[in-house]
Amino acid sequence: MKIICVGRNYAAHAAELKNEVPTEPVIFLKPDTALLPKRQPFFYPDFSKDIHFETEVVVRIDRLGKNIAPKFAHKYYSELSLGIDFTARDLQQKLKEKGLPWEKAKAFDGSAPTGQFIDKSTLPEVNQLNFELKINGESRQSGNTSQMLFPIDELISYVSKYFTLKIGDLIFTGTPQGVGPITIGDHLEAYLENEKVLDLKIR
Ligand code: MG
Repeated sequence: MKIICVGRNYAAHAAELKNEVPTEPVIFLKPDTALLPKRQPFFYPDFSKDIHFETEVVVRIDRLGKNIAPKFAHKYYSELSLGIDFTARDLQQKLKEKGLPWEKAKAFDGSAPTGQFIDKSTLPEVNQLNFELKINGESRQSGNTSQMLFPIDELISYVSKYFTLKIGDLIFTGTPQGVGPITIGDHLEAYLENEKVLDLKIR
């Protein structure tokens, strides 16, 4: 399986990192080794001193597809969750300055924990979902999928022009504004429409 991530999909987040608002989706990949087994903590890597959380809605693909039209994209997933797109911001900044690929800063081991997946039929409309991250019980980041520059079905269509989507592939759909650093000892809890889907300790 593969993990496809979308960058700069919320205008306010693009602005907070001083990036331009894109005219088409920004896409990058993480390998399957970026997944974090359930109930395992995230171990702060020694190659960074500035790991940031990015709370994102995650879509799980459950049907094989290529060149999917936006109007049919909804048939390719039935479950959603939240994930954290952990980012070594210090390393990413250096790589961006040199115009180099981001993978070391974005795709390292454990950089893509995901929560419990929820059947979309039990949720509000996918373009109207509230989500929130609490750290040590305090609200730190929140968003609504209505703020996406490219909605979920458009993302699926776009991504599938380049990569065949396979059952089990995950799409991280981008983070809203409010990203920030984590610290060893932190306790992260992510809520999709008031349901806690992810619970993660930083070690
Ligand atoms: Mg992200």
